[in-house]
Amino acid sequence: MLVVRDRAALDAARPRLPGPVGLVPTMGALHAGHRALIDRCRAECASVVVSIFVNPTQFGPGEDYATYPRDEAADLRACEAAGVDVAFVPAVEAIYPRGASTTVDVGRVGTVLEGARRPGHFRGVATVVTILLDLVRPGRAYFGQKDGQQVVVIRRLVRDLGVPVELGIVPTVRDADGLALSSRNRYLSPAERAAAPVVRRALLAAMAAHAGGERDGDRLRAAMRDVVAAEPLASLDYASVADAGTLEELARIDGPALLSLAVDFRDARLIDCEPIA
Ligand code: AMP
Repeated sequence: MLVVRDRAALDAARPRLPGPVGLVPTMGALHAGHRALIDRCRAECASVVVSIFVNPTQFGPGEDYATYPRDEAADLRACEAAGVDVAFVPAVEAIYPRGASTTVDVGRVGTVLEGARRPGHFRGVATVVTILLDLVRPGRAYFGQKDGQQVVVIRRLVRDLGVPVELGIVPTVRDADGLALSSRNRYLSPAERAAAPVVRRALLAAMAAHAGGERDGDRLRAAMRDVVAAEPLASLDYASVADAGTLEELARIDGPALLSLAVDFRDARLIDCEPIA
């Protein structure tokens, strides 16, 4: 496995990679969720590039940029074990030249839901993903369904800017009790970790209602809200039933939709979602 740290090294390595080249963008602290993306990329592409970059522009003031878990040695071992060809581990200056001020803004899909609570977050995500796609020029790029709004944002940017890449969206990897794996789960206290599957249970309640024929947005949102309300350590930020393409809240589901919710614990905010075809 080649470890490259700057644009020049990547430019030198890129022409030697057999295609199709697949890219898996990550912020490191790799777990089985990331591994699922890498495995899918390995199965579908001749070359696998994993980027490990804690992107400062997607963190708001007061968020955990400084303390975000970083363990490069363990991440590189995990990449090597997963058969990665190139680990791209840039310093901040390798992604953002000094004084950089250009951003990619996807509009309204980036300002609702997580974007309302984390202003600028999706501008940071869209900007770094655009830069990574431009640097690596992959034929395919892989993202997790767990970050459902991020998937909507990236689909939108790829479509709007005509980026020549195919997206692979990988189902959420969960612990046995249903909690979606996340690098931030480590911020939960033991009691909160025991309570955290409430997020999944809320989604399952709405999915069961939908499977039973319920199409009313408010009733589906209430199904999620009621489950979270029963857990004293958790407080619901939002429960959403939105159009899968625009993320507009729906009065009724009559096409592809995204059920999603965000739940606050003392030191961690958990998100989860489920697409409805
Ligand atoms: P992150 O390192 O948190 O930026 O995540 C990198 C990629 O891994 C994103 O596309 C995430 O959606 C994806 N990912 C993170 N956790 C999971 C999970 N539990 N299951 C599937 N994909 C995930």
